[in-house]
Amino acid sequence: MGEKKTKIVKTIKVDVDKCNGCRACELICAAFHAEPKYSSINPARSRIQVIFDPINDIYVPVLAGEYTPAECAGRNKYTIDGKEYDECAFCRASCPSRNLFKEPDSGLPLKCDMCESDPPLEEPKCVEVCLVDALTYEEREEEVEEEVQLNEMEIGLESLVDKYGLDKIMEAVARLAASEKE
Ligand code: SF4
Ligand code: SF4
Repeated sequence: MGEKKTKIVKTIKVDVDKCNGCRACELICAAFHAEPKYSSINPARSRIQVIFDPINDIYVPVLAGEYTPAECAGRNKYTIDGKEYDECAFCRASCPSRNLFKEPDSGLPLKCDMCESDPPLEEPKCVEVCLVDALTYEEREEEVEEEVQLNEMEIGLESLVDKYGLDKIMEAVARLAASEKE
């Protein structure tokens, strides 16, 4: 058994009924995560995507969750107000079967990091810009087993290892290291 420790659990509550599909959350997320910050706005880089259906007047903001190396064998089908949605429509994962939540240039997985920042923000950027309160932010304390948290770089590395195999990645790193020394 690992050590118990207190962890702050951060939650963004999504009220689908309030979302009007303005997509301000996508734009600010993309801009906040640009390198350097606010230097570009490409919604494909956003870690929140608004699933759009103007005919049925439904907009569902979906926040990027964990990366997964494999497609699901079992999927969910949603029917909302009589309209059936694509099996992958509301999934939060960056996965091989679709282009959602992938960095457009590198293909590396994107995941919502709650706008981690130093100094910390009062609330995540997407919550701040959502004028109709479709997104609200909550923090609570929970006792959890100590766990190893992968950071963004490690998640990216994991996906590269899944794609190319560890040996190839190690070879590439060795080559890079050698060329850096030259
Ligand atoms: S900013 Fe708010 S209202 Fe606009 S698309 Fe995002 S969640 Fe919906
Ligand atoms: S919390 Fe920050 S990283 Fe997560 S979706 Fe909102 S703006 Fe993007």
